Amino acid sequence: MSDLDAYRTQARAWLAANLTPKDPSKVLRAAHGASPEQLAADRALQKVVYEAGYLGIALPAEYGGQGLTKQHQRIWNEESARYAVPAPGGIASHVTLGIVMPTILAHASEQQKRAWVPKMLSGDELWVQLLSEPGAGSDLAGLLTRATLDGESWVLNGTKVWSSGAMSADFGVCLARTDWDAPKHKGLTWFKVPLADDRVTVRPIREINGSAEFCEEFLDDVVVGPEMVIGEVNEGWAITNTMLAVERGAGAAQSGATPAPSDRRLAPDLVALAERRGTSGDPAVRQLIARAHINDFMQAQLTRRLGEAMVAGSVQPVVASFIKLGLGIVQPQRAAAAMEIAGRGGVAWALDDDPGSTASVNFLNGRIMSIAGGSNQIQRNIVSERILGLPREPSPDGDKPFRDVLRDARSWGKKT
Ligand SMILES: Cc1cc2nc3c(=O)[nH]c(=O)nc-3n(C[C@H](O)[C@H](O)[C@H](O)COP(=O)(O)OP(=O)(O)OC[C@H]3O[C@@H](n4cnc5c(N)ncnc54)[C@H](O)[C@@H]3O)c2cc1C
Repeated sequence: MSDLDAYRTQARAWLAANLTPKDPSKVLRAAHGASPEQLAADRALQKVVYEAGYLGIALPAEYGGQGLTKQHQRIWNEESARYAVPAPGGIASHVTLGIVMPTILAHASEQQKRAWVPKMLSGDELWVQLLSEPGAGSDLAGLLTRATLDGESWVLNGTKVWSSGAMSADFGVCLARTDWDAPKHKGLTWFKVPLADDRVTVRPIREINGSAEFCEEFLDDVVVGPEMVIGEVNEGWAITNTMLAVERGAGAAQSGATPAPSDRRLAPDLVALAERRGTSGDPAVRQLIARAHINDFMQAQLTRRLGEAMVAGSVQPVVASFIKLGLGIVQPQRAAAAMEIAGRGGVAWALDDDPGSTASVNFLNGRIMSIAGGSNQIQRNIVSERILGLPREPSPDGDKPFRDVLRDARSWGKKT
């Protein structure tokens, strides 16, 4: 038996003995804020997985990893896909391991990586992204949160919003303006901010799907030391580009997290839904399931091929915008198909019928990928400008000192 076959056998046995199988009818369910007890239990279970050596499989030992290969990671992904792998804080866990950790590995100092990454892997530290602000989403570089030097420390003030999982998290990676005289993309810096700090107010936002996955945060004179600066001061935009490419699919694609297309089952959640309604023999329902399966298959192929090309260095991580745009188009369609399959059951269900609400909640969640991490329109702009080399969108404020952009904005619409 080869090393990889032996690893698969060992992982399969460990999973069967330690984790419970996933419920396929709940594939896209909403993320809900976890209770403190649930969060503690999930963290404890993540530590069990970590200590068994199944988190950070392909990361170097000095960062708390196992030093194995991407093939080992892929085997674990394939084997664990059928299990409920612990994710403390739900989305917070995904953001920590799937978005923040790869960015930290790419840009933080050696000392920071050795100190922070093992705690992310073990579940001791959950991190979230503090990027968007009430006035800065698509135009992220227009953000207003400020960090001012006071001796060696930095003092942060501002408002962040839509921070997924912040109510369960320990830290946020926060993008703040550190130079108001530089053009808007050039005076930004990344900081690690403790969310339990008395001067940080974290307020959950209630959503249309009944969940409260996001938060808004108010930073009032939050003081952090120089050891909390990630990367170079005023050079935060390059880190932002890395983080957004990772979020848009470069991270998962390069780590081999996408299961091989041959392993993908026929849209399992939609099949389960049709079987529940007794309509799996209906030709119209079968068409919807087939279309969803084809889209799933195409998306997996796209992700896999772009991931391989990124690993080979033949394309830049910015091509992740194709992955993100694909998901942003396909997922709303898939969510609408589930509503059609669910029929009347998609709009009314008994209160104690938990799976009954799945199609409807997923329908509301179906828009997530068309907005989060940059909207479909922004991905189209990126594809056209940065991948195809088409003319850039006019940007009257791109080269001005940011202070002047704000001053000019105040006089918009006034007659001179
Ligand atoms: C599920 C989810 C999770 C999120 N998680 C986080 C998080 O953890 N941390 C965080 O900081 N943020 C998070 N966000 C926020 C997200 O990054 C922003 O919602 C997104 O970037 C869009 O910004 P906005 O909401 O301000 O919309 P706006 O920027 O106001 O855009 C409004 C509309 O205008 C369009 N538009 C804007 N500019 C252009 C342009 N130049 N060309 C064409 N169309 C344009 C947009 O496409 C959109 O349709 C999350 C959002 C969602 C939905």
